Amino acid sequence: MRILFMTIAVAAAFMVAMMLPAKAAVYQQGIVYVIYEETGDASPKDKTDLNANGVPDFVEDVATQVNAARELFNGVFNFPDPLESEHFKNATSIEVDVESKTTMGNYNGYSGRQVRKQSRHDPNERAMHFKVANTINPHKNATPAHEYFHLLQYGVTDFRNAWFKEGTARWAQDSVQKKNYPDDKDISFILEDESAAEEIFKGSYEVANQFWYPLVMKMNDKVTIPDELIKKYKYVDGSPVFLDNIIYGPNVIRAVLIKLKSKEELAAAEFGTLKEWRKKGKRAETNNKFIMDSVREVYNDKL
Ligand SMILES: [Zn+2]
Repeated sequence: MRILFMTIAVAAAFMVAMMLPAKAAVYQQGIVYVIYEETGDASPKDKTDLNANGVPDFVEDVATQVNAARELFNGVFNFPDPLESEHFKNATSIEVDVESKTTMGNYNGYSGRQVRKQSRHDPNERAMHFKVANTINPHKNATPAHEYFHLLQYGVTDFRNAWFKEGTARWAQDSVQKKNYPDDKDISFILEDESAAEEIFKGSYEVANQFWYPLVMKMNDKVTIPDELIKKYKYVDGSPVFLDNIIYGPNVIRAVLIKLKSKEELAAAEFGTLKEWRKKGKRAETNNKFIMDSVREVYNDKL
């Protein structure tokens, strides 16, 4: 009887433990905080811990890729720092939530558009944030750099049309990947011909290959990633974050982003006020001509 009672008590305790949400673990690397479950469906699928510090290498590698992309874009290429933006006012950190792939569905990442007023690692701090799926391999997958680039975009402009937003974020992945650039593809007709541009406006990620890469190659914006940076950023197993020291386009893409900010008032005119545009017009088709005008102006300025 006593054994039976104890068995029931243990089983009940086990069930309570199963029902309670597991307390998330927090890993900090500089201003990047990766928040993850240690067990269960949302925990990192790959729990390899080569440096035996109790943190899955996946978690450290995600943080390393974010810091590497951040130093490259903001430190070396002088993109406006989202942490200093009006949009993410007073944010001091970046939180990366590791999510179950089952919950994420088709996506490997999802960027938070608004500042997290009470960050998960410290309710007295404000954080920018994004999610990554617990199944990605940062050595081969640039989702952390891609999502960080979205934060950078949000810090500069409220234009959200996918051919610009996803096209340039896909371009940004080149920072940590080895890119086979598309063959010399002439895009000048897209800049000149409205109907050719219409096709581009319908696109999203694939516009990187159809338009953004050919544009930055045509403008010969070829930049070398500094050696110090390549040596500085390594994953836990010692392999480099930057797989190639060549990237095309940082000066062009930065110039387009900054130019876009100056087009917001014009785009908003169709909606009455900037406030109304921010509410209803960030993805409006009427934005397309202003985004393309920004590209044309940068192209004609030749930087
Ligand atoms: Zn994206």
